[in-house]
Amino acid sequence: MSDLSTQNIMYLPGVGPKRAELMMKELKITSFEDLIYYFPFKHIDRSRIYLINEVNINLPYIQIKGRFTSLQTMGQARQTRLVATFSDRTGFIELIWFKSIKQIKESIDANAEYLIFGKPSHFNGVINIVHPEIEKLKDGKSMLPGNLQAFYNTTEKMKSNFLNSKAIQKMMISVFAAFQGKIPESLPAALLSQLPIINRHEALHAIHFPQDTQQLEKARFRLKFEELFYIQLNILRLRNQRTAHVHGHRFGIVGEHLNHFYANHLPFELTNAQKRVIKEIRKDMGSGRQMNRLLQGDVGSGKTLVALMVMLIALDNHYQACLMAPTEILANQHFESLTTLLKGMPVKMGLLTGSTKKKERIILHEQLRSGELQILVGTHALLEDAVQFNNLGLVVIDEQHRFGVAQRARLWRKNTTPPHILVMTATPIPRTLAMTVYGDLDVSVIDELPPGRKPIQTEHYFHNKRNNLNRFIKNEIQKGRQVYVVYPLIEESESLDFKNLTEGYEYMQKAFPEYQTCMVHGKMNVADKDAAMQLFISGQAHIMVATTVIEVGVNVPNASVMVIESAERFGLSQLHQLRGRVGRGADQSFCILMTGNKLSDETRKRMEIMVRTTDGFEIAEADLKLRGPGDLSGTQQSGLPFELKIANIAKDGRILQYAREVAEKVLENDPLLEKAENHILNKQLTKLARQKMNWSMIS
Ligand code: ADP
Ligand code: MG
Repeated sequence: MSDLSTQNIMYLPGVGPKRAELMMKELKITSFEDLIYYFPFKHIDRSRIYLINEVNINLPYIQIKGRFTSLQTMGQARQTRLVATFSDRTGFIELIWFKSIKQIKESIDANAEYLIFGKPSHFNGVINIVHPEIEKLKDGKSMLPGNLQAFYNTTEKMKSNFLNSKAIQKMMISVFAAFQGKIPESLPAALLSQLPIINRHEALHAIHFPQDTQQLEKARFRLKFEELFYIQLNILRLRNQRTAHVHGHRFGIVGEHLNHFYANHLPFELTNAQKRVIKEIRKDMGSGRQMNRLLQGDVGSGKTLVALMVMLIALDNHYQACLMAPTEILANQHFESLTTLLKGMPVKMGLLTGSTKKKERIILHEQLRSGELQILVGTHALLEDAVQFNNLGLVVIDEQHRFGVAQRARLWRKNTTPPHILVMTATPIPRTLAMTVYGDLDVSVIDELPPGRKPIQTEHYFHNKRNNLNRFIKNEIQKGRQVYVVYPLIEESESLDFKNLTEGYEYMQKAFPEYQTCMVHGKMNVADKDAAMQLFISGQAHIMVATTVIEVGVNVPNASVMVIESAERFGLSQLHQLRGRVGRGADQSFCILMTGNKLSDETRKRMEIMVRTTDGFEIAEADLKLRGPGDLSGTQQSGLPFELKIANIAKDGRILQYAREVAEKVLENDPLLEKAENHILNKQLTKLARQKMNWSMIS
């Protein structure tokens, strides 16, 4: 049986090498199993057959049953069309084809009964059906099993080679015939009998050929459940393995460094949330297990301070620590703020980024290896093989979603016993997504902002209100505040965006000649960028025109106005991140979203949500609903480390929760899936890991 599922579809009746190649190239389908798992995107009810005298153009897709009474090619050259007259006992209707004329003409059997499927329309003043699907009936019966017809996505290239939805459906019929009613089960028999789910063969058959909507729902449920169940099972099993086999450094000591810092250097009282989170992390790092923890906290909630205090615990236990940031600006800023916080303390800290000079780099490498350097702050440069620690005990990763899974896994190899990992993110991750993507991580949440912060006031302006905006900006600057103006910069249209940015810069200089304006963008060299940042941080520049390079982490408490130009081009979570650059001081802060006048419904909703709330979790939930999981966790890629064929993280939260509970129960009874009855689970996980899932030790 297993042979059959890996069998190349080339050997399926009616496919052959040419079609197989097309299926491979266009849809990445090679095996019988791939084909079976190519699910339809919709189903149309075909239980009803209309009489021709009932047909009118207001009907959606319909079916009629009858015979061809005439076939005629009309028009000339490129205008040719095939016009057929089709009749049942109640009348006649025209069927029209503009393409594949010869083929269709030759295939039609004037003596046979046919089932016609299509959308009635008007052409030349009469009702007709253009490019209908036709099926020759046997003894008056359709070959189609089931009443709901499945529709499959195909590409233009496939269509022009007669590989349309209908052709795929025919392949489905052949592939099910090949299995002879026995696609092997992929869940243990015990589970199947306990759970309210139908078996695999039944589900797969019903998703392609459902008898009715009820059966279709059952099929969907089973297939979604299975998909989510295996994801959860895998995540939870990894966690079991990690806790069982991977030892962690035991950070039992709270010593000199942390105590001294707490007593003499802490610039403000910790919030209760910060205290709680530090306690959770400390307990975790002291357990002897390796820590894998996600620290969630909205922008401005004070994660940096938590990171520092946690790193000091590592130092107290004679280990090194590193802090990795997604951009150079951010790494620099972390380095500076940590240096300030630690001023006067005997802690040796270094900064390593892409622009660290070679000479300096060599020294850093040496000091790391000898153990002299205690804390290393940097960018991706930390991942390079040349960077070797004497005894790395803790890695803090800031703004996790910018790092790939593989990059994080590399950190594990920086010490024989893997270091504790703390991943910090300001992107509030909705529960369903967190369970799917970060199910293996423990989570700490800073759910409180430092005291004295006033909620940021957000407004949405259309471009024609620019004069009002300028008056407002002027007013705020006169009060001593500073202003960010952010422009989108998106790879595909970089030059155009760049033009917008520089024009925006010139415009602001002209509009505010009495104030200093500076500009920062990703393509500047580091020295210029630093100089411009410094102007703004020191307060010499009043206005900073920038791209989203300032999105993460930049901290200028005196900046209280964030203007986001072309706000319609940003996603919700990005808008929220950008807005988080202000509201860091004691003054009332503002965020102004500038957009054009014509907005889609979705964009309008996004603006409304931003104006209504500053709650990151509410925004993340709304974002997930509006756009799906795509941009939440991976800014570039699909967001999920695996491909979901049928389940939807945004919509199937309940099934996900259920699948997780079932997976937890299975592992409770058999943590390493060693029992004979669970053999099938192990096999399936191995197969999935090979096929599509990009699992790794962290994430
Ligand atoms: P984020 O969580 O976005 O990384 P930061 O760590 O940059 O936030 O902190 C934001 C600002 O809040 C910084 O200026 C920081 O000094 C300040 N801050 C952090 N913790 C506290 C606190 N407990 N009380 C007052 N201010 C704090
Ligand atoms: Mg931060």
